[in-house]
Amino acid sequence: MRDIIIIGSGPAGLTAAIYAARAELKPLLIASSVEVGGELVNTTEVENFPGFPEGVMGPDLMTKIQAQAERFGTEVVYDDVVSLDLEGPVKRVTLGGGEVHEARAVIFATGSAYRKLGLPEEEVLSGHGLSWCATCDGFFFRQKTIAVVGGGDSAMEEATFLTRFADKVHVIHRRDELKASKIMQQRAFDNPKIEFVWNAEIAAIHGTSQVSGVTLRDTVTGEERGLDLDGVFVAIGNDPRTHLVHGKLDLTAEGTIAVEGRSSKTSVPGVFAAGDVIDPHYRQAVTAAASGTVAALDAEAYLADLDDASTAAQPALATVSD
Ligand SMILES: Cc1cc2nc3c(=O)[nH]c(=O)nc-3n(C[C@H](O)[C@H](O)[C@H](O)COP(=O)(O)OP(=O)(O)OC[C@H]3O[C@@H](n4cnc5c(N)ncnc54)[C@H](O)[C@@H]3O)c2cc1C
Repeated sequence: MRDIIIIGSGPAGLTAAIYAARAELKPLLIASSVEVGGELVNTTEVENFPGFPEGVMGPDLMTKIQAQAERFGTEVVYDDVVSLDLEGPVKRVTLGGGEVHEARAVIFATGSAYRKLGLPEEEVLSGHGLSWCATCDGFFFRQKTIAVVGGGDSAMEEATFLTRFADKVHVIHRRDELKASKIMQQRAFDNPKIEFVWNAEIAAIHGTSQVSGVTLRDTVTGEERGLDLDGVFVAIGNDPRTHLVHGKLDLTAEGTIAVEGRSSKTSVPGVFAAGDVIDPHYRQAVTAAASGTVAALDAEAYLADLDDASTAAQPALATVSD
C-alpha cells in the first residue's frame, strides 16, 4: 500500500507531488489520459507565474513542473480515476484501465472546467485571442477591441477589469437583462468603454491564427451580423470537477470541495483537496500550486500522526499478548 495517491496533474497536483516526494512519501500521481498538465496546456504564453521574467508557454511550464516532481521520485500514471473508495483507513482508487491502487492518504486535485460556447473554433483559437480568464490574459489586449460573453457577476467583473487595457469591451448577452447583482451591473453600465449587445449569441468565431471577429446571432429574430474583434473572453461559468466525490465529500454552495479553513482537509479523514477544485474565486496557476503545497503538508502531518498512533499502540498490544 502507498502513503499518498495524488489525482490530477495540474499545478496543484504536481506541486503536491514535489512536496510529498521530497518528504520521501513516494507519491503515485494519476495524471489523466487526456489532459496531462491540466488547464495550462490549453494556453500559450503565461506571463504571471513567478520565476519566468520573459514569460513561459503553458505546456513548457507544466512539463518542467512534472520533471521536478519526477526528479524526487513521483511515479506518474497516465490514466483516469473512474471510482474512489474513501471511507476507512485504506483508500482505494480505481483507474479506467482497471488497476486498483491503495493508499493511506489521497490528494484530490482535479481542477475545474470553464464552460465553453460549444463552437468548433474554440479549440483552435484558445490562447490566440480567445480566453476564459481576464486576470491571466487581459494584459495582452491593450488598446484593443474585445468582447466578453455572459451576463452574470463574473462577466461584469471581467468586462470592468478588461477596460483597464482594452479601448472597447462589448458585453454579449443572450437576454435583454442581466443576471449579475445590481451593483456589478451598475458599475458596468457606468463604464464608458463597455457597450452591451443584448439578445445575442456568438454563432461563429473568425480567425485562423488569431481571433479577428465573430458572427453574432440575434436570439429573438435569428438575424446574423458580423462584429470585428481582437479578442473574446468567455465568462459563462465554471464547473469544479467533483463528480467522483459526489455523496462522498462535502461540497460548498458553489460546488467546490469543502475544506476546513485554510487547510486542505476535506470532510473525510485522510482525504485532502487542492487547487481550483476547492477554489471558487482565485483560480490561478500559482494559487493552485500553493494549495497543492498545503495539501502535501497536511497529508504528511496526517500520516505522521497515524505512524505515531500505531507506534504508541504497539507496547500496549505487546503487554496484552504477554
Ligand atoms: C485557457 C486558460 C489560460 C489560463 N492562463 C492562465 C495564466 O496565464 N496564468 C494563471 O495563473 N492561470 C491561468 N489559467 C488558470 C490555471 O490554468 C488554473 O488556475 C490552474 O491550472 C488550476 O490548477 P489545478 O491543478 O487546480 O487544476 P487543473 O490545471 O485543471 O488540473 C487538473 C488535472 O486533473 C486531471 N483530472 C481531472 N479529472 C481526473 C480524473 N478523473 N482522473 C485523473 N485526472 C483527472 C485533469 O486532467 C488535469 O490534469 C488559465 C486557464 C485556462 C483555461
